[in-house]
This record gives sequence, structure tokens and C-alpha cells, in this order.
Amino acid sequence: MADKTIGPGRETHQPASPTLTLNADAGADTGAGTVADAIGDAGADLAPDADSPAMSTQYETIIIGGGPGGYVAAIRLGQLGVKTLCIEKEAMGGVCLNWGCIPSKALIAAANLANKVRNAEHMGITVKNLEIDVAKMQQWKEGIVKKLTSGVASLVKGNGSDIVMGTATITDPNPGI
Ligand SMILES: Cc1cc2nc3c(=O)[nH]c(=O)nc-3n(C[C@H](O)[C@H](O)[C@H](O)COP(=O)(O)OP(=O)(O)OC[C@H]3O[C@@H](n4cnc5c(N)ncnc54)[C@H](O)[C@@H]3O)c2cc1C
Repeated sequence: MADKTIGPGRETHQPASPTLTLNADAGADTGAGTVADAIGDAGADLAPDADSPAMSTQYETIIIGGGPGGYVAAIRLGQLGVKTLCIEKEAMGGVCLNWGCIPSKALIAAANLANKVRNAEHMGITVKNLEIDVAKMQQWKEGIVKKLTSGVASLVKGNGSDIVMGTATITDPNPGI
């Protein structure tokens, strides 16, 4: 990216001519500077939603992956006024929000609570017939994940960057980046 000055209390960005192009036609002649030219090949359920930008939109930056690395970059670039697209093939938030950090910590917290209650007799707390409804626990965990992943998508869009759900493929051996 060109023409960017970032310093304490001073952040400017003069839009350069677009360097990256998103093109939905896999195998098409995408021209110099094209990074992602195929999306949506991961199945109908991942097709771009109604909010998706037009396939002809030109971007200065295209981020492949909406995990903690990708979505944070998309938010910051949006704040800096860089025309940015984030392409995610499975779920915004990546491993951390969908399968790793967040869901594992939620389930660990629930299991710890059950364990504490079960072993609290010495504190004078006795819970008879403690039951663990695993399906309900999973549902609760999914609710947390959904809240966070939709929050991430809103933050990306709210800061001016676009999101497309689909698989990005780099086809140009010399995309000019
Ligand atoms: C069980 C578990 C627990 C964890 N707990 C913690 C923790 O407590 N604290 C912590 O700091 N870290 C934790 N981590 C690690 C954390 O999840 C990762 O460090 C973090 O997710 C890395 O972020 P990332 O954006 O680099 O990659 P990812 O989160 O892997 O995101 C990459 C994204 O790119 C997408 N993608 C890949 N290829 C394409 C493509 N061609 N087109 C479009 N999209 C694509 C993927 O679908 C994915 O969403 C944990 C991981 C696991 C598995």
C-alpha cells in the first residue's frame, strides 16, 4: 500500500489507485494485481449473503481469513480508510471464537462450576442429584459463540470494511503485493 503515514496522533491515508481486485469468476483473466479470484467454492451455504459487496468492487487490501489475525486487521484498516475486504470460508472469528479459546473456556468454566458444587460439602453446601445436561451446556456455549462472532462481523463492517463468505484462492503467481 502506498501513501500511508501513521504516527502518534496523526494517521492519514491518501487512497492509492486500487491494487487488488476481487473477481468471482474462477479461472477468468484477472489482470495484474489480482489476489483473490475465486470465492464461494466451499458450498452453497457459504455463498455471499445479501450484505456482500458487488463482485466488481476494487480493494486496496484483501485479507484471507476472518480469524483474530484477519478481523483485527480488517477493523484497523477500515479505521484508517483503506478499502478492505475480508474473505472467510467458514465462520468469522476463526478458530479462536468458534472452536478454540472461547468455546473451550466456556465449557471449562461450566465444568469447573459443576466440580466445585459437587465438592462443596466441606463448606456446608450440599447439592443432591446434581445433573449435567450436556446438550443444554452446548447450547449455552453456542449462544456465546454466536454473540461474539456476529459482534466481530458487525465491528468489521461498522469500521468500513467488507466481508465475503467464501474460499479465497490466489491464482496470480505475481499478484503485485
Ligand atoms: C482448543 C483451542 C484453545 C485455544 N485457546 C486459546 C487461548 O485461550 N488463548 C489464545 O490466545 N489462543 C488460544 N488458541 C489459539 C487461537 O485459537 C489461535 O491462536 C488463533 O485462532 C489464531 O488466529 P488466526 O487468525 O491466525 O487464525 P485462525 O483463527 O485459524 O483463522 C484463520 C481463518 O482463515 C480462514 N481461512 C483459511 N483459508 C481460507 C481461504 N482460503 N479463504 C477464506 N478463508 C480462509 C479459516 O476458515 C479461519 O476462519 C486456542 C486454540 C485451540 C484449538
